[in-house]
Amino acid sequence: MDSQGKELAEPHLGSLFAGFGLDVEYTRASGNSLYRLDERGAEVEVLDATGGYGSLILGHHRPELVAEAKRLLDAGTPIHAQFSRRAEANEVAALLNTIVRRETGAAEDFTSIFANSGAEAIEVALKHAELERVVKLTALRDEIAADLDRARAAVLDGAAVVPEETWALLGLAGDDWDPAGGFDRLAAKVTSVNEAAFAAPPVFLTVEGSFHGKLAGSVQLTHNENFRLPFRALAAQARFIPFNDPGAIGKAVDEERVTALHLTVRDGAVTVGERVVPTLAAFVVEPILGEGGIREISPEFAREAQRVFAEAGCPIVLDEIQSGMGRTGSFFASSGIGLRGDYYALAKSLGGGIAKVSVVLLRVSRYQKAFEYVHSSTFAKDSFSSSLALKTLRLLEAEDGAAYRRAAERGAALAAMLERVREDFPEVVREVRGRGLMLGVEFRSQSDAVSGFIRAKYREGVFGWVASGYLLWEHGIRIAPTASASSTLRLEPSLYLTDAEIGRLDAALRALCSVLRNQDALHLLHP
Ligand code: PMP
Repeated sequence: MDSQGKELAEPHLGSLFAGFGLDVEYTRASGNSLYRLDERGAEVEVLDATGGYGSLILGHHRPELVAEAKRLLDAGTPIHAQFSRRAEANEVAALLNTIVRRETGAAEDFTSIFANSGAEAIEVALKHAELERVVKLTALRDEIAADLDRARAAVLDGAAVVPEETWALLGLAGDDWDPAGGFDRLAAKVTSVNEAAFAAPPVFLTVEGSFHGKLAGSVQLTHNENFRLPFRALAAQARFIPFNDPGAIGKAVDEERVTALHLTVRDGAVTVGERVVPTLAAFVVEPILGEGGIREISPEFAREAQRVFAEAGCPIVLDEIQSGMGRTGSFFASSGIGLRGDYYALAKSLGGGIAKVSVVLLRVSRYQKAFEYVHSSTFAKDSFSSSLALKTLRLLEAEDGAAYRRAAERGAALAAMLERVREDFPEVVREVRGRGLMLGVEFRSQSDAVSGFIRAKYREGVFGWVASGYLLWEHGIRIAPTASASSTLRLEPSLYLTDAEIGRLDAALRALCSVLRNQDALHLLHP
């Protein structure tokens, strides 16, 4: 059958976006601009404030990166050669290690595991954390089993007795005349309690509002119920800690505490103690919640997380997929907040807006060598994406990190403009949030708006998309709401944002605010 002309690539999403006037096909891109063709075939420029949802810190088609891509192809560089030595990937790992150690002051190296997308990097982190946990669990299980055997031998050869107190603690009656049979009953009780404890599923903790991807494992840590709930049977469930509530961290850890029984011989008596079973696999957190509405983790929350998880021996995974790569004025947003990770996940801008690549940095003291045999991908570590990642990192690191200073300066200029808009439209704009070039503008609720159209769209949860459609058609600006907080518009332009572009955004946002102030719904209906 001829399928020409049919929409077969996610056709429903296409028609949904058409409803907001966002089903635009872009035919060319450069810097902060995208281009579409009008009805007469003439190019129309659009200012891209979405910036590839964070993947374009260097803009579209940065010339140095385009040149690098061409060089690789012209030179016939082998791209797909899995399970051979990949020098470029190794250089990326070395440079990332230098950066993470410099920014965090870590006294040890970080190893890199490469993957293809943000969500896959999170899957890598979850699997590695689970491997770490299983190794700890096995060691505990072996230690408890060995001590139980030792206790049995001591009881059988008369070197130890099981005192009344131990029987009582286990809820059993003592057995004076048959030490062997009695000990077996004791051991059976200990073993059955412990097997249940050891079988407890891993606990991944994260924060309410988080977004960590949409694959089978990572989506369980993505708070948005629409994305997560249909798939809850596929993988371990996460526990969501209320955002920026430091007191909730220790409480969650205490509530997840599972213990095993441990028999040891002390002074000729078999005693029973409790050991904490490593059920906590990882705490996974975005230093600045991206899809959750551009909300930054507070220093108090960061400090408490650091303390609680260090004490629990649980790794902290920093999801810097959206916030990392220099966007916030430092390579990692977490460095600016004072949050230190055991793992760091990067993706999005790592490929320079051309390649698809992601990586997880892992503290060597936690690194499980065996992981390398159990996780791989045909595409990971390919020379094309690794070389583009290397070039991107070098551009960011050039001139002693001029790019980071630029992100901070451009971000401050953009934020100052947004703040002025908020001051002039306080009844429309609720808050401006974020750091560097990761900014969000939250609009006030329109659920009681005078305009029936605006009220209905707000209540449907699509206000941000309606506003985005308006900004595109009326002002030539591409912007999008965050995935899980639809009344927050996200701005993640490249480092090369100009004052003139900030001026265009200013005029467009003021026009949007006026439409909302005047409840002029007609303007929001795209042609
Ligand atoms: N983590 C964060 C913080 C993200 O923002 C995203 C994407 N929005 C992901 C993970 C998933 O990345 P990807 O879309 O490349 O799978």
